[in-house]
Amino acid sequence: MSLNNYYICTKLEIMRNNIHILLEDKTLNSTLQTIAQKVSKSERISDEDCLYLYEKAPLGYLGTLANYIREQKHGNQTFFNRNFHLEPTNVCIYTCTFCSYSRLIKKRSEGWEYTHEQMMDIIKQYDGQPVTEVHIVGGVLPQYDVEFYSNLFKAIRAHRPELHIKALTPVEFHYIFKKAKISYEEGMKLMVESGLDSMPGGGAEIFDPEIREQIAKGKCDAQQWLDIHRILHNLGKRSNATMLYGHIEEYKHRVDHLSRLRELQDETGGFQTYIPLKFRNKNNELSHLPECSTIEDLRNYAIGRIYLDNFAHVKAYWPMIGRTTAQLSLAFGVNDIDGTIDDTTKIYSMAGSEEKNPAMSTEQLVNMIKEVGRHPIERDTVYNIVQDYMDYDFSQDPKPKGFIELPVIN
Ligand code: SF4
Repeated sequence: MSLNNYYICTKLEIMRNNIHILLEDKTLNSTLQTIAQKVSKSERISDEDCLYLYEKAPLGYLGTLANYIREQKHGNQTFFNRNFHLEPTNVCIYTCTFCSYSRLIKKRSEGWEYTHEQMMDIIKQYDGQPVTEVHIVGGVLPQYDVEFYSNLFKAIRAHRPELHIKALTPVEFHYIFKKAKISYEEGMKLMVESGLDSMPGGGAEIFDPEIREQIAKGKCDAQQWLDIHRILHNLGKRSNATMLYGHIEEYKHRVDHLSRLRELQDETGGFQTYIPLKFRNKNNELSHLPECSTIEDLRNYAIGRIYLDNFAHVKAYWPMIGRTTAQLSLAFGVNDIDGTIDDTTKIYSMAGSEEKNPAMSTEQLVNMIKEVGRHPIERDTVYNIVQDYMDYDFSQDPKPKGFIELPVIN
């Protein structure tokens, strides 16, 4: 075992099930003691508590509480799925200042715009591969309209009926429905009828209007983002929620963001997973900002887990934060580390993420989870168990479950 892995395992051992020691710790101030007591009794913490945690709580304290909740909900189980990304275009009409991925329409020759046929060619590359989900998200372009996406979903559904289509965010939906002059209700119903199974959590960024204006001007606002999720939930479908952190926002903005997510979840119960997304500072208009530390990443995961008592899952997106931090996050409230994606996703590598080529085979992902003493389980998009990998023998596997290299179509 490498020194790094030894360190991680030791750390996990210390963190696990230590809440009772924490409750007896007389050195904690009264606010931290009160919050720990609430968590130990499965009581909800307030927005004020949440802000206090961001401002004052030490890392070990947060990890202990978050890990307690994580193990109450899931024990040692750590989920991942086998999916691939389809990014129709990186040309975009918006100019989000944190975005390293998009190319403005006037510079569209630097980007890519897949045709319907090219996208179906990508889908077909996975024929016979044991993937359960296609994750579709990209830039916003006027010609990629309601009809375009409706036809794409129908074609994928017709080609591979069992493949779960997790696609687009309220940013794209708001734009295409407005352009088509149809209501969110009509639009989402049409998308679901065309084959949409669920929605990823992107486009949330930070809900606070002043921060949103500075980093994501012109995109759907917080209310619109939440409304589209509510409508999808009311159609019986599930979605995820993200928060982009570590740029110009303050802790109070993170609390406000989490509070709005928790409120909608109380109403619909339709969110599955909360996914904090770390701001990366390469190749974007906010490159002058420093990135937050790994410590802050772990604190943020933990606080999300503690505050969002009505969310089942917290996910660390390993292509963005790197494999080691993803492993560490499993002791700070995280119980899902996304999927065995391949290099069809360029969003995070273009933003300066840890992973330049974010591909990992199932065996590698399973080993990563087991190295830190957790129990790897492959899930489908809606958390049905596909395969328990704790004692899986990859050498006996007749069909190697690895990623496949795809041609890059520009
Ligand atoms: S974050 Fe999304 S909406 Fe904003 S510029 Fe990038 S691709 Fe476009």
